[in-house]
Amino acid sequence: MRDLPEDRLAALIRPAGFFRVKARRLRALLDWILARGGGDVGAALRGDPEEVRASLLAVHGVGRETADSILLYAGGRPFFVVDAYTRRILERHGWAAPGEDHDALRRRIEASLPRDPALWNQFHAEFVATGKEHCRPTPRCAGCPLEGMLPPGGPITGGGTPRRAGSARPRGGARARARRPAR
Ligand code: SF4
Repeated sequence: MRDLPEDRLAALIRPAGFFRVKARRLRALLDWILARGGGDVGAALRGDPEEVRASLLAVHGVGRETADSILLYAGGRPFFVVDAYTRRILERHGWAAPGEDHDALRRRIEASLPRDPALWNQFHAEFVATGKEHCRPTPRCAGCPLEGMLPPGGPITGGGTPRRAGSARPRGGARARARRPAR
């Protein structure tokens, strides 16, 4: 893959959209894997977790969410993935402040869970599944696994005053107010 001409790589990933930009970024990541791990992803991701993350973040096109996804999913390293699904669900329940810093939120989640990358992997997958199935731009709270944990008055969308994590009281059978989402 590293030896493919960039336009050939772009053609192969065309269905993913923004393929030219992604091809350039993919190439940069492949260079990093080659330089750091001799082409072995696992080897590239070994070592001091913070140092590996900092090194990954220096790769063209790799932001914090992407770095944490690579570290957790490809390397089994202890970084929770804070993505749009995670953030949306936490904000709607008042467990995260709108716009809370990525790393601050990530560390708070990590500190609240047993330090187990396999568990974090599963936990993040649950966020994604819930986000896709229920916590869509317009929330579908009825039947959502988290419906019983909604704050009084329903999901916080479009600005509210979030409470600290874990402070929302369970609210079995509550019907959510589906207002316009924040995003
Ligand atoms: S209960 Fe509503 S706000 Fe909470 S995660 Fe489910 S869909 Fe989102």
